[in-house]
Amino acid sequence: MKLKNNLKKLIALSLLSANFTFFSTTIGSKNLNNNFAYAYSYSNLYLNQDIEVIRDCYNVPLVHIPGSLFYVEKKLFDRNPKLYSKNNLNKIFKKAKRKAYNKLGSTYNDNVEVEIYIYDDDNIEEFGNILNSFFISNETYSDELPYIKIKRSHFFDKNCTSLTDEIMYAMHYLCQEKSNVIVDCYNVPLIQIPDTLFYVEKKLFDRNPELYSKDNLNKKLNEAKEKIYDKIGLAYNDDINVPIYIQEDNDGNEIFGKTTNATFCVSNTFGKIRIKPSRFFSSEYNSLAHEMIHALLFYYLGDNINLGIDEGLATQVNDLDSWGDIDELPERSVLLSNFYPSDREDRLKFYHSNQHIVLNWIKTEGKEVVPKFIRKVQRGVDSVKAFLSLGGKKVIKRLCLDVNRY
Ligand SMILES: [Zn+2]
Repeated sequence: MKLKNNLKKLIALSLLSANFTFFSTTIGSKNLNNNFAYAYSYSNLYLNQDIEVIRDCYNVPLVHIPGSLFYVEKKLFDRNPKLYSKNNLNKIFKKAKRKAYNKLGSTYNDNVEVEIYIYDDDNIEEFGNILNSFFISNETYSDELPYIKIKRSHFFDKNCTSLTDEIMYAMHYLCQEKSNVIVDCYNVPLIQIPDTLFYVEKKLFDRNPELYSKDNLNKKLNEAKEKIYDKIGLAYNDDINVPIYIQEDNDGNEIFGKTTNATFCVSNTFGKIRIKPSRFFSSEYNSLAHEMIHALLFYYLGDNINLGIDEGLATQVNDLDSWGDIDELPERSVLLSNFYPSDREDRLKFYHSNQHIVLNWIKTEGKEVVPKFIRKVQRGVDSVKAFLSLGGKKVIKRLCLDVNRY
């Protein structure tokens, strides 16, 4: 569906749809799977065939109209089977779909099965104070089909207003559903953006779907790739399928910790990048490219790389001012350290010093030194030794006052 063209309308709809989500969890979640336990058949003389009857969660018998997505309250159907014939219902459905299309510009996909339940107007229990609804029984995970509930008088309204509205809700929901919502280990719903490596927190996506469009995200990814190649001479190839999660920090800092804005984290052999939207869209920090370098180094070397060199390479894409004054001499105490200093000041020195050393290393030896370094470590040479022997030692001697340690 052409989401972009109908952005404003969809945003307006998404606000309305939020109410529906609430509603559906409070009322619509009664288990309709039980329906089919109560299913039975009876013969209808008019149609001259067996008709399947189910009971909904309120124990109201509904007739399934063969060959359609319609269920009609049995007492209505028995009163006038002709009115509720498949052709008649589908004719009205088609009209409402056309109206919804004219309003939204998206096509209601016939392959998408949204069942439509038609109830008698005085079925107070069914509707309570609600007139008609598009229900989803569980926002993201359900084997149940979404369904529309509609009152008889509204269904047969000649303008099809209510049915059109419900179809528009359904279309909106199905647009989102197509984007594939997952829930991460922190129970945060994320939408997988099709044909990308990106997962975007649902609330961010809902707020601005265009910002998180496939084209926009892939553009950012390609810019990051170019930046990486430009700065350290390594190609971020397509085999490095590290997923990228764009998420807000939550109140408890559960996702990022107190000081982190972006991470590349690895569990077993599977890595993922998590990044805050503010950092994702920041050109000062280039956090995406920074984390992608970590992912890339992990792809080639696993854990066999010194942390200082790892961060030194990753910070090549950061603005030099990010970590401190470039004219400062690197601090020997944190150079090529294999752990993050816990003190904030020391941590900044750690990033800055290693960034500084690696920058000068690449300047002196040329960008081709980085792939050379990778190959050397892949052959089993310790990463610090490889770095020092490939010109790192010279750079440290030149830039540090006290280099005896090396
Ligand atoms: Zn880093």
